[in-house]
Amino acid sequence: MHMTRFDPPRRTLMGPGPSDVHQRVLDAMARPTIGHLDPAFVGLMDEICDLLRKTFRTDNALTFPVSGPGSVAMEACFVNLLEPGDTIIVCANGVFGGRMKQMAERAGATVVMVHSPWGRAVEIAAVERAIAEHPEARVLAFVHAETSTGARSDAETLARLAQQHDMLTIVDTVTSLGGIPLEVDGWGLDAVYSGTQKCLSCPPGLAPVTFSPRAVARVQERRTEVQSWFMDLRLVMGYWQGGTKRAYHHTAPINALYGLHEGLLMLHEIGLEQSWQRHADAHQRLVAGLADLGLELLVPEAERLPQLNSVIVPDDIDEAAVRATLLNAHNLEIGAGLGDLAGKVWRIGLMGQCADDAHVDLCLSALSGALAAQRSEAAQTA
Ligand SMILES: *Cc1c(COP(=O)(O)O)cnc(C)c1O
Repeated sequence: MHMTRFDPPRRTLMGPGPSDVHQRVLDAMARPTIGHLDPAFVGLMDEICDLLRKTFRTDNALTFPVSGPGSVAMEACFVNLLEPGDTIIVCANGVFGGRMKQMAERAGATVVMVHSPWGRAVEIAAVERAIAEHPEARVLAFVHAETSTGARSDAETLARLAQQHDMLTIVDTVTSLGGIPLEVDGWGLDAVYSGTQKCLSCPPGLAPVTFSPRAVARVQERRTEVQSWFMDLRLVMGYWQGGTKRAYHHTAPINALYGLHEGLLMLHEIGLEQSWQRHADAHQRLVAGLADLGLELLVPEAERLPQLNSVIVPDDIDEAAVRATLLNAHNLEIGAGLGDLAGKVWRIGLMGQCADDAHVDLCLSALSGALAAQRSEAAQTA
């Protein structure tokens, strides 16, 4: 077998993540690798934690990037906050609520599911009923921005319900961080995880997390050991919060962290609120252009995420063929439907670097051409 270097095609990434990564971030990742306990690197780690606090809008001391994709940070929240026999209420309105259920079960918890329709926000009244029926529940888990459908849930109201019943919250902000308003302290969220490859526009493989003092206290009070060594927060804390006495836990992904640092610098050069606004503006432009093409969105207007748009595939269109045309003719990636929505929607991401007029216009013109070509072909063979 003859092996040569791999040169990836130049794509525009407008699916559910990863999103386009800026050359500045890629360049940062190509800088020289140094030791992970080098004093220079320790300084960088502290800066990354500060930038993450600013992005999550929190003063939580325990805020850091987990070495792993979003799903690892997600699992870290479940295995640390739950002990065998605990009851948790998990809200599901798409794929990721289902993943939460599996993780909670593996942690030995009794799981109470609250299902809301796919494409809609988590239904508040249904959560209130579940809490009333399960006063023993200790944790409420939900997804702020459901990437599988494009629905935004009311994290502030859900967190208030949890606080009123002395429950902690586990909140998935993988797709919301940087893209829509998220106020970890303002809303009183407890264990919050995200990812780097969505609205932060960094490569995948790192996952920011933040834990409130209440969540840290719950972890400290555990009667049982966390079953995962790697994700046990009591061990990881010594690494990320050790200052100059930082103890070896695992070798941090040094170069990936250079990239995250640069990406966060870029975000805060624009400004967090300006970034939210850019996502909202790009979304408005996309929705108007889709309407001109006769295309509709799955999610009702009031519950839409700007950064993830599920577009209903018209009956006469082969959805996979359209995605193939975009990829092959335009080097443009958009997402397919997941789970119940497979074959029924396209998912167009406007995340991070992709949330601007140029990306929206590129996508609309490519989509318009692909639809027209497929329809004229169908008319000729009919
Ligand atoms: C992408 C995503 C995840 C998982 O992140 P990975 O990095 O793929 O593990 C979890 N939750 C939501 C809402 C996501 O969009």
